[in-house]
Amino acid sequence: MIYRIFTFVSMLEDKNTSRTQLSDLGEFGLIDHLTKHFNVTQNSTKYAIGDDAAVLDLEENKCLLTTDLLVEGVHFDLSYVPLKHLGYKAVMVNLSDVYAMNATATQITVSIAVSNRFPLEALEELYAGIKTAADIYKVDLVGGDTTSSTTGLLISITAVGQAKAEDIVYRNGAKENDLLVVTGDLGAAYLGLQVLEREKEVYKVNPNSQPDLEQYSYLIERQLKPEARKDISSLLKALDVKPTSMIDISDGLSSEIMHLCDRSNVGAHLYENKIPLDPTVIATCEEFNLNSTTVALNGGEDYELLFTIPQDDYPKIKANPNLTIIGHITDKGQGAALITRANEKIALQAQGWNPIKENN
Ligand code: ADP
Ligand code: MG
Repeated sequence: MIYRIFTFVSMLEDKNTSRTQLSDLGEFGLIDHLTKHFNVTQNSTKYAIGDDAAVLDLEENKCLLTTDLLVEGVHFDLSYVPLKHLGYKAVMVNLSDVYAMNATATQITVSIAVSNRFPLEALEELYAGIKTAADIYKVDLVGGDTTSSTTGLLISITAVGQAKAEDIVYRNGAKENDLLVVTGDLGAAYLGLQVLEREKEVYKVNPNSQPDLEQYSYLIERQLKPEARKDISSLLKALDVKPTSMIDISDGLSSEIMHLCDRSNVGAHLYENKIPLDPTVIATCEEFNLNSTTVALNGGEDYELLFTIPQDDYPKIKANPNLTIIGHITDKGQGAALITRANEKIALQAQGWNPIKENN
């Protein structure tokens, strides 16, 4: 893990590693080189890469479409994000949006803009991560676009999903008294980023330092290699539970609860003592002098799912280790609020990442 974190720095700067200029292959040679190992596994993919457009046949299912754009220097920093991880994560971010609709992800397109700072070997790494994600999550790569950029790397991925119309879960269906449920645990990805940022500063001063990041491996993995919750849709189906509303946690629990409340025209009470935190998160918050509740509320990039279910379904989910009930839906007049351990009610705010430090 430690070695891999800083390999890209050496790939760009180390004159000894093999560097093939992208211009040596030409655009079509490059596309072919990067995509030739991808296999089509979905029945709905009728034609993938190689024509002007891909052809899909979704039969009686509805088609879901979602896209994300990642920009170097804004969404990722290549001094500590290995390109293979970046490719994997770029796919996860999109699949997470499809799963948040209670749908199955089936195809992706990948568009990239790259400068001549990137050798072919760098793009091979990026596509190796994309392929790993596509293989594990069973989505077909069916197209994309390739162009040049003057400086950095841009990646845009579009995901196609399918679902029966009656299975799709929107943000707008939460009802008063519904239970508010979250998958997994929160805050780890944000702390992973804090650890990596800190190590980057150390590395700048002393490139030969060998940081021991073992104790943070869970946090770093959650930041660099998140897993979208493909399993939740089938888990809920098996439990015979259909959420009334659902969203994925990309910007932080606080802002996602506010989105659900906004779209559903309701309020919510979130209980501070119910928020699921990994022990590493609690320990690292102490070390960084951060409030773990603030980190879970505003950290983001957890890619867990947040959903609401009717109270009557409580017995069906109560024993499941993947699911934590963190609150309930109220009438709109109550607003979206955190009930603290001291039983104080505080209005939730959509803060995103940056204000976290300023609040402490
Ligand atoms: P067009 O000129 O019609 O945009 P391209 O020459 O850009 O077509 O692309 C040729 C084929 O390769 C198309 O099927 C396209 O979807 C696919 N493709 C192009 N770039 C990428 C990429 N970066 N990743 C995956 N597929 C790509
Ligand atoms: Mg094109």
